Amino acid sequence: MITQAKSILKETFGFDQFRPLQENVIKNVLEKKDTLVIMPTGGGKSLCYQIPAMLFDGLTIVVSPLISLMKDQVDQLTSYGIPAVVLNSSISDDLYRLNEQKVRSGQAKMLYVAPESLMTDRIRHLLTQVKVDCFTIDEAHCISEWGHDFRPDYRQLAEIRKDFPEAVCIGLTATATPRVREDIKEILEFRDASTFVASFDRENLFLNVVDKSGPVDQILDFLYTRKGQSGIIYCFSRRQTDELYQDLKDEGHSVRPYHAGLSEHQRETYQNAFIRDDIDIIVATVAFGMGIDKPDVRFVIHHDMPQNIESYYQQIGRAGRDGLRSDCLLLYSHSDRQKINYFINQKEGEEKEVAKKHLEDLINYLTTSDCRRIPLMEYFGETYNGNDCGMCDNCISMKDEMEDLTVAAQKFLSCIVRTDERFGATHITDILRGSKAKKVLENGHDELSTYGIGEEFSKDQWVQLSRLLVRKDFLTKDPKYGSLLLTDDARKVLKDEKRVTGVLDRTQTAIDGSAAARTSSDVENRYDENLFEELRKVRKDLAVQQDVAPYVIFPDTTLMEMAYYFPQSSETLTGIYGVGDAKQKKYGRDFLEVIKEYCEENNIEEREREIKKKTKKRSSSKKHVQIGEDYNNGKSLEHLAEEHGVKMPTILKHLKTFLEEGNDLRQDGILDASGLSQRKVDEVNQAMDKVGPELLKPVYEELNKSVGYSELRMMQLYYIAKNGS
Ligand code: ADP
Ligand code: ZN
Repeated sequence: MITQAKSILKETFGFDQFRPLQENVIKNVLEKKDTLVIMPTGGGKSLCYQIPAMLFDGLTIVVSPLISLMKDQVDQLTSYGIPAVVLNSSISDDLYRLNEQKVRSGQAKMLYVAPESLMTDRIRHLLTQVKVDCFTIDEAHCISEWGHDFRPDYRQLAEIRKDFPEAVCIGLTATATPRVREDIKEILEFRDASTFVASFDRENLFLNVVDKSGPVDQILDFLYTRKGQSGIIYCFSRRQTDELYQDLKDEGHSVRPYHAGLSEHQRETYQNAFIRDDIDIIVATVAFGMGIDKPDVRFVIHHDMPQNIESYYQQIGRAGRDGLRSDCLLLYSHSDRQKINYFINQKEGEEKEVAKKHLEDLINYLTTSDCRRIPLMEYFGETYNGNDCGMCDNCISMKDEMEDLTVAAQKFLSCIVRTDERFGATHITDILRGSKAKKVLENGHDELSTYGIGEEFSKDQWVQLSRLLVRKDFLTKDPKYGSLLLTDDARKVLKDEKRVTGVLDRTQTAIDGSAAARTSSDVENRYDENLFEELRKVRKDLAVQQDVAPYVIFPDTTLMEMAYYFPQSSETLTGIYGVGDAKQKKYGRDFLEVIKEYCEENNIEEREREIKKKTKKRSSSKKHVQIGEDYNNGKSLEHLAEEHGVKMPTILKHLKTFLEEGNDLRQDGILDASGLSQRKVDEVNQAMDKVGPELLKPVYEELNKSVGYSELRMMQLYYIAKNGS
């Protein structure tokens, strides 16, 4: 059965491997042994019952306390092609009857219900008519009075479960002390119980605590390089929430507030807007977050000190469920601490003692100069060994060192000069980092001497540097066009008469070697951001059409892989993370179309998967010479493509390099391969005379799109071979 589970993982969900514990849990459930699963948020609890549900003959019931989350889960399952339904008070009568019918007929494999609905006679009666194989209790800690979220309704699940003696029971939770764990098993009367506890270390969260000084500016700085990313900012009070919301809004951020002072309708609207990527940021009190299953929250900021480690951990846990690197920033001030102390002193007796202890633990976390994971994990009863996590400020520990940034500033400033002060920070950064973005190529900026001289900084760091230069009056922004303009001071920097010093956020160092790279993969660091943005638009359109959250279509990880591997066919698309059979059928075409068009326009080829690449790499260094010589000796282009197992554009690229190194190339074969008539060949030549042979897009436009890119690529080679470049 576990082999079947693995193929469901790949074919239905599109994932290559199980996460830690998933396989063991699934095995246990399939053997019909009651199972308790304790995993942090984002650990992958859902698959632990969704995969068995597909393998059991009968129905799997999933009890979950949050009605809002159920719809989301069922949407997701439907998108994977898994027949799941929900029965609760939020759906129309018609849909309710239809779903009941699906359960009765065995058409639905999974039923999501709230505990109070499960207790109704109507549902209890319905469930006597079907075979139930698995009884799942999500957020199982709600059953225990010792948990932080006890719900009396949950208590009665123990009785209900007796209705299905054949069913295996599985309980899942993200927070559970040993006391709560025992409680859950006892109350549910687990037989042959097995408990699986995953580590609570969330490796992909970058933990950062800084002294609070001018919090609004600190937050604006942080947000500056994170345009378009989803994030939550927690404040202590409603008033603070409203104020910060206003400040961010005034600065042009896409943001909404959330606190108990707003009407229920407003809160729901804002929460949905956040989930659906209609807005980027929520500024909120602790009231926000329950029932948020959004996997791509990229940061959580604490404007104020949290109440205790438990709630801090829960709040930062909402970031990075998808496993991608996410940032947790906490602004810490002594006066916040006094505020909390004040509240604690109003309490009495044991309650006061407990609160004091909690504060102590939290302060310990905030003020440690060791790895932050040590006190954090200790709090959850785990020992964190390893003294360099590479994912907290203390382990990176260069945060406050002023650096001499003169050389970097000179690169940046001279690049602005070379592009006539007509562009903004992103474009300058693209040039410095040697990007193949359309805008760079179209402007011929890949030919500037500053092209590709700035690989030592990540994109974010260059943008940060630009902000620093603006703040220190080396640059001003053209109010109308947003382009960056040099000041007199900047010219002094260029003449080596003035130095630039400052602090960049070193935690964002991309590319090889840095500690942070440990959890961010090659894909995460080097995907094509322009294509990624286009794919996000496709996703958003589909989501609106189908009335679901964008991540239900595909998570960010999937889009990133697409923008890294550039799959061109449905076969290679299946290899992408998160693309299972059903999603491939439903959305494959829409995404492939955009990827192909983008690749065509930017002359990009599909990237081979890593494993294959490694074995091939050795021989590739002088390949263009070999190909060039073979070609001159009479081999045809098609022959060479086949022989080397690559596509035509690759062969052409090699030949172009060969030419550019000063070698000659025979011209006859190229024209033949292009298949163009003499008249067309003349037209293309004329067009290239006019707009130059280097960039194909202008040639393409010049010819009114009458000749395709692949032919143009050949003609380009022919033209250069004939005329020299
Ligand atoms: P939890 O319920 O524990 O918070 P989820 O079940 O929502 O976590 O899973 C978190 C994310 O991880 C989801 O986006 C899910 O698709 C993804 N995921 C789960 N298992 C795997 C796996 N084996 N491989 C890759 N991604 C996974
Ligand atoms: Zn650390």
